[in-house]
Amino acid sequence: MSSHPDVLIIGAGAAGLFCALGLKDSASVTVVEAGPDPGTPPPRWMLYDYLLPDECYYHYADADTGLDLPQGRGTGGGSTVNSAAALRGQPWDFDGWGVPGWSWADCLDGFRAIESDQQFGDAEYHGADGPIPVTRLTPGPLDEALIALCAQRGYPAAADHNAPGALGIGVWPTNRRDEARWGTHAAVLPLVRPAVDVRAGTWVSRLLFNGTRCVGAEVLGPEGEQRLHADRVVVCAGAFGSSLLLMNSGIGPETMLRQAGISVVSRLDGVGANLQDHPWCLLDVGVSDVAAIEARPVSGALLRYELPGDHVEAEIFPWQTRPYVPSVPATQVSFTAALMTPLSRGQVSLAPDGGAEVRVRHLADEQDAARMAGIVSTTAELVGELAAEGLVRLPDAPWWREGDLVAASRRVAGTYNHHCGTCRMGDPSDPGTVVGPGLDVLGISGLSVADSSILPVIPRANTNLTSMMIGHRAAQLLLAALPASAPAGS
Ligand SMILES: Cc1cc2nc3c(=O)[nH]c(=O)nc-3n(C[C@H](O)[C@H](O)[C@H](O)COP(=O)(O)OP(=O)(O)OC[C@H]3O[C@@H](n4cnc5c(N)ncnc54)[C@H](O)[C@@H]3O)c2cc1C
Repeated sequence: MSSHPDVLIIGAGAAGLFCALGLKDSASVTVVEAGPDPGTPPPRWMLYDYLLPDECYYHYADADTGLDLPQGRGTGGGSTVNSAAALRGQPWDFDGWGVPGWSWADCLDGFRAIESDQQFGDAEYHGADGPIPVTRLTPGPLDEALIALCAQRGYPAAADHNAPGALGIGVWPTNRRDEARWGTHAAVLPLVRPAVDVRAGTWVSRLLFNGTRCVGAEVLGPEGEQRLHADRVVVCAGAFGSSLLLMNSGIGPETMLRQAGISVVSRLDGVGANLQDHPWCLLDVGVSDVAAIEARPVSGALLRYELPGDHVEAEIFPWQTRPYVPSVPATQVSFTAALMTPLSRGQVSLAPDGGAEVRVRHLADEQDAARMAGIVSTTAELVGELAAEGLVRLPDAPWWREGDLVAASRRVAGTYNHHCGTCRMGDPSDPGTVVGPGLDVLGISGLSVADSSILPVIPRANTNLTSMMIGHRAAQLLLAALPASAPAGS
């Protein structure tokens, strides 16, 4: 354990632990994590529950709508609290960013390195030896009925939704082992310890600078307040946490920082801007026999299809509501209608107390709202046909049968929990860019951001695997830049 590590990583979530894993043999690394570490091997609740103890979450509230915006807190971060849906995104997501070194061809190696795919591991676009087990569960009766219905309606079969360009009806790829959620706490933490000093319960209040060089961080942990110094600091604190830490440390929009009484270290208007999420609308129905849904969180049938436009993509899938909302009957099933290519953009701002003021602005864009209404309409047709077959029961007055579906969709739209984009990666000459293609924060030396916040545009997929891939690639970029003489564990 080093008092002055080569690299200090802030946040032990999806990206942070993969970054530590990639660096551990070549550099001395300390990881600080604000939330708890429930232990190794992980306790059963951590693997099988979908509503975890309060200490495992941050609960932000949308400043416009009051919508609850949970984020994972503790070792594993979001990968500990999430539904283990393990989707990669489409090649055109990454190619569309236009960031040198981050095309699909560049990122594919990272996706392969982090996974061991249980069904398609020998396909050239999959990995068979990485720490995250990706598998597909056997579809249950309701999943089978939806798959058959979608096939009748002409959607192609998608045997592997993680095959590049996959669209159609299939089953979710999911990061599970023995049906348990297998995120970075379960899969990566045991690989980084003991080489890496991972300190849970340690909150970083601000970064430390010598001029415009980042030299460490001020932390509050079990040993009280401390200043940790490092040659390189990598912020992996998530879509809200990373932008917030940068702003509280003097990196962000000048006016906002000055109003909060924070001295400006680097004026970057993009910090906190470009907030993105996939909006979803839930069509809640009932099944007459609970065996039809088989106590399943997100892991059954998945339909992905394109709407008119440039690869405008939608997801439709059913899941049992109760693992997430214990107060509802076990027979309730939520059919999700999700827009995977949102144009709406939100903002994370600094509140007067140094906390986050979040505005996601789901469906603020008119095209987003119209497209969502279309996806809801398709979902309603599928649900209606399943109801006609006696497989599901509709509620007495379904919201999706209201006259104005655009207004109704806006009213019920919620979060798919895929927040990202608030420390955007891009061309350093673009005023909205926060980190360049090498993940260095503009205007500062010794500081990188590497997590979901760097995404220029949200991928057409759930964001966990992409965040892990970013952590893995960040380590590769840092290794290339570290002094060749740096011995591990110095
Ligand atoms: C409820 C929920 C369900 C989801 N379901 C899915 C799903 O099924 N599939 C999927 O692909 N994606 C899902 N996601 C999204 C996915 O989990 C995230 O995109 C992913 O975890 C983001 O990774 P990250 O490394 O950017 O941040 P995180 O994994 O959130 O990690 C950030 C870490 O930094 C720590 N931190 C923050 N601030 C500080 C600070 N100041 N000091 C010290 N530590 C700090 C946090 O405590 C956290 O542990 C879900 C997310 C949520 C919240």
